[in-house]
Amino acid sequence: MPKVHETTLEINLDALRHNFDFLKSKLQNNSLFLAVVKAFAYGSDAVAVANFLQKSGVDYFAVAYVSEGVDLRKAGITVPILVLHPQLGNLELAIKHALEPSLYSLKMLRAFEKAALDGNKSNYPIHIKFNTGLNRLGFKPEDIGVVVNALINASSLKVKSVFSHLAASEDLNERGFTENQIELYRSLSEKFINHFDYPIIRHLSNTSGVLNYPKAHFDMVRCGIGLYGYGNSRKESVNLRPIASLKSVISQIASVSIGESVGYNCGHTCKVDSKIATIPIGHADGIGRHYGHGIGAVSINQQKGYIVGNVCMDMIMVDVTTIGCKEGDEVLIFGSGLSAEGAAEAADSISYELITGISRRITRKFIK
Ligand SMILES: *Cc1c(COP(=O)(O)O)cnc(C)c1O
Repeated sequence: MPKVHETTLEINLDALRHNFDFLKSKLQNNSLFLAVVKAFAYGSDAVAVANFLQKSGVDYFAVAYVSEGVDLRKAGITVPILVLHPQLGNLELAIKHALEPSLYSLKMLRAFEKAALDGNKSNYPIHIKFNTGLNRLGFKPEDIGVVVNALINASSLKVKSVFSHLAASEDLNERGFTENQIELYRSLSEKFINHFDYPIIRHLSNTSGVLNYPKAHFDMVRCGIGLYGYGNSRKESVNLRPIASLKSVISQIASVSIGESVGYNCGHTCKVDSKIATIPIGHADGIGRHYGHGIGAVSINQQKGYIVGNVCMDMIMVDVTTIGCKEGDEVLIFGSGLSAEGAAEAADSISYELITGISRRITRKFIK
């Protein structure tokens, strides 16, 4: 593989295909597959990922915000797009681009009904979100009668799906909590769909729900992190392949004597005569300050080098005293061969935060 000459996020669409096929192979009852491509497809490239999955036969997409859905439509995505978190100010824009909102409160439902009427729409597809334990967005289970009444009289709207979101599907210590959530969703959604004389899709599971709770797949699943190569546990991640690898280069190697300091505020003091490599990536690129002071590490020529001192805005310094390397050598920050899951864990974070935080100024490059 050609070496990178600047900080680059390499995106491997073969890995994406592998993850998509693997996750689909886990599905019970021929469930539909919704790909979650919010936050720039978890920090990679939403348009490229969505295009690839659209060609591969994905059934649905989800984004968090209307603006993300508009970008996909402008790029030629025609698969239905669920907007998980629309805002009152952009409902007309959603309709203009045929984006399907998640309606999670009576206020949103009424506002969207009005926007659909104003736009002369009938049977506009919408999705009803219930809160079954995450206590984030959604109608309460006891609101079911009120919601159904509001919908039965809303001829501008048609319910495409009823869904909820698991709070702890990746945490097997919370199995009891999750089992309760699944059963609550099962009975609630069944009651809900019985009020309508047309089919309504039921969906509950994110990636960890797909992997850990086969009985929670229902009619559709919503996968994000698994598509990008992480399964929220070592056991599951071995079957997946990270689609994005963050690489950089060594700009300069300095010899720093014992007792001298490195970086802002003398964040690191060399205990021996050292070689310190400076690498062009920093906290403005998504490598937060919590990766400094020996917490974070990179891979150089298959060897582990620790980040020393404070992470700067555009640079990190890595101790390469015992690593055979030279200026211009490639540096792997995370990805294939150095899991973002493990890297994030060292800093008390999660793969989601590390991969979605990679700044837009870093070049994306597609590789086979
Ligand atoms: C982000 C999100 C998902 C995807 O979760 P993963 O753990 O990344 O698979 C699914 N559903 C909802 C409601 C989400 O917000």
